[in-house]
Amino acid sequence: MRADVPRFADFERVVLFSGAGMSAESGVPTYRGAGGIWKQYDYRRYACQDAFDRDPEAVWEFHNFRRGLVGACAPNDGHRIVAQAQKALPCVDVVTQNIDGLHQLAGATHVVELHGSLWRLRCDACGATTHTRDAPLIDVHCPCGAFWRPAITWFGDPLDDAVFSEAARLIAGCDLFVAVGTSAVVYPAAALPQLAKRGGATMVEVNPEQTDASDLYSVHLRGTATEMLAKMAG
Ligand code: NAD
Repeated sequence: MRADVPRFADFERVVLFSGAGMSAESGVPTYRGAGGIWKQYDYRRYACQDAFDRDPEAVWEFHNFRRGLVGACAPNDGHRIVAQAQKALPCVDVVTQNIDGLHQLAGATHVVELHGSLWRLRCDACGATTHTRDAPLIDVHCPCGAFWRPAITWFGDPLDDAVFSEAARLIAGCDLFVAVGTSAVVYPAAALPQLAKRGGATMVEVNPEQTDASDLYSVHLRGTATEMLAKMAG
């Protein structure tokens, strides 16, 4: 493991690849580990297309619970450092697995949301889309009368092809790849870091713990997102 800390400013094309740990210090529960919400809720009943087709009201109850939890959270210093780096440096892109919108709330302007957004809604009946941070969302119906569907990737959903291609293009072309707070086990997103490695990028993992993907990285920054991103920006 290398002990030196790569600086954002020393690279031409930086990609920050974030997962649930990026928002842990904002109070958003991670997926796995202590407080992970899937320990309490069975995804088959609340977060997949079959569940929505069967009982959209129960799915909305769960998503309104999530909107309430996440809506009460504010961006942390890590989100702010990334947004600041995007403004100060020529090419810093964010590819996130998170659906919480906290990168954008901190001021980041170019964020590829691999798994969609908790705040975006789409209507699969008429094709309408909308964006609202209301938490809870009181009227869960599109003006056409059908239920809105949260525009997020549920268990078993394919990823949006155009979004995935954009992420792959940015990652394959970067010279610094920083994975922050992801256990990197959820495919196909978990395949993306390999593109950066193949492209010759300097590979940095920011995570207080070792992950199944740690071997892919040459630099391991074992600490929290806020602490380690501050060092990379310094
Ligand atoms: P994960 O929950 O599987 O893993 C989280 C990782 O973050 C762990 O490796 C943990 O060690 C690390 N971590 C915890 N606290 C940290 C901190 N302060 N700083 C840095 N790292 C920290 O998350 P995942 O790999 O992102 O996969 C879960 C899936 O569920 C993804 O699609 C994810 O986006 C989604 N999800 C999103 C949110 C959100 O939008 N905030 C929350 C939960 C899950």
